Amino acid sequence: MKKNIKDYNLEDLKEYFKQIDEKPFRAEQVFKWIFSENVTSFSEMTNISLELREKLDNEFNINNFNIIKKLESKDGTKKYLFDVLDGNAIETVLMEYKHGFSICVSSQIGCKMGCKFCASTGIPFVRNLSAGEIVEQILAVQRDSKIKVSNIVFMGIGEPLDNFENVMKSIEIINNPKGLNIGARHISISTSGLVPRIYDLANRNSQSTLSISLHSADNIKRSEMMPVNNTYNIEELIKACKDYIKITNRRISFEYALAKDNNDNLDDAKKLVKLLKGMLCHVNLIPINKIESGKYSKSTNENIIKFRDYLNDNGIVATIRRELGSDIDAACGQLRRQNLK
Ligand code: SAH
Repeated sequence: MKKNIKDYNLEDLKEYFKQIDEKPFRAEQVFKWIFSENVTSFSEMTNISLELREKLDNEFNINNFNIIKKLESKDGTKKYLFDVLDGNAIETVLMEYKHGFSICVSSQIGCKMGCKFCASTGIPFVRNLSAGEIVEQILAVQRDSKIKVSNIVFMGIGEPLDNFENVMKSIEIINNPKGLNIGARHISISTSGLVPRIYDLANRNSQSTLSISLHSADNIKRSEMMPVNNTYNIEELIKACKDYIKITNRRISFEYALAKDNNDNLDDAKKLVKLLKGMLCHVNLIPINKIESGKYSKSTNENIIKFRDYLNDNGIVATIRRELGSDIDAACGQLRRQNLK
């Protein structure tokens, strides 16, 4: 089978061109065509000889996703369901903010983490996405929407740290000035809390932002919401976060989805303050998105504001995440779920 050229970073391409006795600058030219010019065929690579284009065409595919479905929200948010060319479908979301466009990418087809409030739970995990498939989500959205993205968040389907090497490689391509040229500081990786991989990430010296899906400062409650807490509990997770901050000097962002009568009262806020006090961090409060058959529902606005104010009054910087695309079920894996039915 032909390889997907989008799985090749600049180094891989240089190595390939060396093997076929071509000059290294050819690698840069092809890399730019693919990731910066976003071409969908070798025939568009006009500064490459016809002979070399044919050779590449025989060796590689340029995997361009097909759009199965596209939903557009009143607020401009677009949600794509992509066919990843093997019969599987993944979701990618495009959001517009004051400072530019942001894309939420998937890292796996399905997820193994089993968080109780998440739409990916209860439907099959299929496989990891390759680096090229992660990057192609951005390329495909840019082709379709004719925009240039400035921020990437790994908050789509999947657990990015459970697909560590492919995610790291995709970030390298996204980052490369000759590729998508999006600065590491404009990339966020969100994790349910795979402690050993948090250390791996710290040691890679990545400048990306780490987001931790915390959702509760209480082990019993967190284990109920997120089974991963039975493997890596809150104490181990926070220790890893503190070490991460020490190693990288980077601020961590904690995600906290507020569910009514579950983790949204003053007592929960107090525990959270105690847990995070003194850490270089920021708390992102998310009104939980109720999923079909899910037992968690959204907190009242009043409770959400009270929760935020309590954190801010007690030295923890907290903001409420603006809800985008709620009219199109843009949050959290709901399209893939419908599509499987
Ligand atoms: N597996 C990674 C990244 C994907 S989930 C992680 O767990 O962080 C991205 C974010 O969406 C996480 O913070 C996750 O907890 C949150 N999320 C999932 N389902 C949600 C829902 N129904 N409502 C609100 N947030 C949800």
